[in-house]
Amino acid sequence: MKITLTTQPKQKPDFSKLGFGKYFTDHMLVMDYENGAWKEPEIVPYAPFAIAPATNILHYAQGIFEGAKAYKTKEGKITVFRIDDNFTRMNKSATRLCMPNFDAKVVKDALFELIKMEKDWIPTEPGTALYIRPTLIANEEVLGVHASKKYRFFIILSPVGSYYAHGLQPTKILVEEQLVRASIGGTGEAKCMGNYAASLMGGEIANSKGFDQALWLDSSEHKYVEEVGSMNMFFVIGDEVVTPALVGSILDGITRRSCIQVLKKYGYKISERRISMDEIVDAYDKGLLKESFGSGTAAVISPVGTISYKGKDMVINGGKMGEITSFLYDKITGIQSERYEDEFGWVTEIK
Ligand SMILES: *Cc1c(COP(=O)(O)O)cnc(C)c1O
Repeated sequence: MKITLTTQPKQKPDFSKLGFGKYFTDHMLVMDYENGAWKEPEIVPYAPFAIAPATNILHYAQGIFEGAKAYKTKEGKITVFRIDDNFTRMNKSATRLCMPNFDAKVVKDALFELIKMEKDWIPTEPGTALYIRPTLIANEEVLGVHASKKYRFFIILSPVGSYYAHGLQPTKILVEEQLVRASIGGTGEAKCMGNYAASLMGGEIANSKGFDQALWLDSSEHKYVEEVGSMNMFFVIGDEVVTPALVGSILDGITRRSCIQVLKKYGYKISERRISMDEIVDAYDKGLLKESFGSGTAAVISPVGTISYKGKDMVINGGKMGEITSFLYDKITGIQSERYEDEFGWVTEIK
């Protein structure tokens, strides 16, 4: 693989004040697609690249991405969490957006080289990681609504701390009753850029009313829970843990899968099914809504303290993180940091 080293290594940020997605390492991976084939991946200095104003990604949003994390353990081992799942999902997203699939093995090997080069950028404090952002964009200079003939795949790396400014504090979410994020048959299942553009307004409205995030409902009846910004949702109702079933408009989160696997193994009753806001309100009124949390790579597990629906604030577990939520957070982050044994085979060491 061709590697071009930077001549101007950057000053590393203060690893105790990282925030999320603000700093980028010295190098990135780039791989172009042209004339029906992928070229070899290359490692180059992290820098802007030129895109003509007519490039189709800028007009028609034929673009997808992924989010994964690498860690440095206490013994100095470098690891990644479930990275194969990310590349499998990315190829599925690519298919949905009429983009060419790539060889996941080639990309993974190149990514591991890049991470090894950037190992001094991996923070080690609890809750921190090196965030991995693989991205694939249409890259043809043409105005015409059809699948692009040229693509650019790239991976950038960012040392990150907590996703939310207030760390593991329970979040307040507002159920969005009018706008929709995605619909069945649309692109909700693909991790594509356009989904995020469509979700911004709901997020802004929630923020303006003092909430952290919007919770999306299904697009046809506005009744069933789908997900939150960039997280899948879970509810603990009585002794059942419920997460919305993957009906086509919900992203198949890897953290969601991890939660389901852990809960199954540890004997919890976990259901993937449709769940309506009426059922949640009813459970709340009967005192059966014990916990709620979101799951996603960035925050891992994010407890939900308040859900507001039709003008009524439901405060869950006294606005504090619940037992099952803490158990999952501890278990999954424990496996990621090698505090616990990798009992599910999720962790790969980069040697
Ligand atoms: C990425 C993402 C998630 C979380 O998926 P993970 O694989 O767990 O990070 C959830 N919802 C949406 C819309 C997403 O884009």
